[in-house]
Amino acid sequence: MKTFMLWAEFALHMVFLCDHCRFGILERCKELVEAGYDIRQPDKENVSLLHWAAINNRSELVKYYMSKGAVVDQLGGDLNSTPLHWAIRQGHLSMVIQLLRCGADPSIADGEGYRSLHLAILFQHMAIAAYLMAKGQEVDGPDCNGQTPLMLAAQKIIGPEPTNFLIKNNASVSAVDKVNRNTPLHCAVLAGNVDAAHILLEAGASVDAENINVSLTELIQYTMTKRAKYVPLCSHCNATVQVLFTLNATAVLYYYLRTCRTDPGFVKATEEEKKMNVLVLAEAGCLDPRIFCTSCMIKKPMRAYHCFTCDACVAKQDHHSIWTNSCIGARNHHFFVLFLMSFMMLGAWMFYGCLMYWSNHCPMHYMEQGLWGAASALVSCSPWVLCVFFLAFYHTSWSAMILLLQLYQIAFLGLTTAERNTLMHHQRKLPQSISLRQNPYNLGVMRNLVSFFQLRCCGLFKPAIIDWTQQFTSGRDQHVFGHPDMV
Ligand SMILES: [Zn+2]
Ligand SMILES: [Zn+2]
Repeated sequence: MKTFMLWAEFALHMVFLCDHCRFGILERCKELVEAGYDIRQPDKENVSLLHWAAINNRSELVKYYMSKGAVVDQLGGDLNSTPLHWAIRQGHLSMVIQLLRCGADPSIADGEGYRSLHLAILFQHMAIAAYLMAKGQEVDGPDCNGQTPLMLAAQKIIGPEPTNFLIKNNASVSAVDKVNRNTPLHCAVLAGNVDAAHILLEAGASVDAENINVSLTELIQYTMTKRAKYVPLCSHCNATVQVLFTLNATAVLYYYLRTCRTDPGFVKATEEEKKMNVLVLAEAGCLDPRIFCTSCMIKKPMRAYHCFTCDACVAKQDHHSIWTNSCIGARNHHFFVLFLMSFMMLGAWMFYGCLMYWSNHCPMHYMEQGLWGAASALVSCSPWVLCVFFLAFYHTSWSAMILLLQLYQIAFLGLTTAERNTLMHHQRKLPQSISLRQNPYNLGVMRNLVSFFQLRCCGLFKPAIIDWTQQFTSGRDQHVFGHPDMV
């Protein structure tokens, strides 16, 4: 009975002591140790007093326990770790320094096989990792499985930081582990760690390295089939997207330059011709502003409009574009429409790129997070990608609207924007409404498109070839859009 009482008292003391140790009550701990408690005695979870002091960063207690003969590298806890391991997991740099000064061995492995540097990398405490390396720990020191800290970072830490840090500290990209002969790049590919793979490739990691089973290239292909989310290393799918995107971007540039640089169909006349025009038209009583341009002093061809920005008459003028700073007329209208089409497709590619980035890099759970949570996840994931997304949305919106309007006018009405505006203006003055489609230039959807884009399709179609700078009406009454009665 006396023995039992003694044990009970001892157990109670231990509980109090461990609690005091956790909360750092130095004086109470001292009292209990002085009363005869063995400093090396672990509690029922096999954890020593030094462990509790280390995990809670109590430097005074550690100093006291060490003076009383605590074992600095005592193994304890579920993972069979030393107090140093516990301090590293918690990120207590000052405690790590103190324990190393007390003689702790950073090369001891815990129950999972990790040494101190591995733990610092695993828990992303870079300052501790830097300190351990400065104290002589090898950057490529293997753990019990032969894994270097770089392999661990590539395998377990999604994100660039620890991998980048180790590469900067000259970690080897060609080291292999003992079990599967995996390089750090193997580890990154297996884990689908895109950021780490990127950094390792930039640091010169070889894609030809072979592990115990397959070459890295085969592994990448395997991973591609298993994980659709792996993007940056090239597969043919990814290469196709890149080629299509490049072709699309080239088309945008090409059609933009063709739109700007092509003469839209300026109506030209020499000084002599201008004088003759005035004389002939004035004497025939036809000096009418609807068929004679007083700015250019020329007889306007059919469908020509005077552009005040270009200060010239433009054949079959559509409008003056602020985006290309040029007139859109008979000779560059089709380039402008093709520019809008390719520009809109480029916007679609950018949407696709943003969505792919988000699905690969930003774990989102719309159902759980709700709209606001998902939106803030996107902002925090990559503000730059979000910015690109909004920019693409803005430009795709306006180009899509203009393109749809242009295609409607070209295919269904056979008219230019300027003609449509004039007709709509006249329409308002008429007692009954008349369809815009009833005009002499509307040849039907198919023929309108064939003529506009000059489609031949190996002789299948015969587009009408008309030089609109040379098409004149015989008199003012035949000027279709100058006279509402003709509509
Ligand atoms: Zn003019
Ligand atoms: Zn113009």
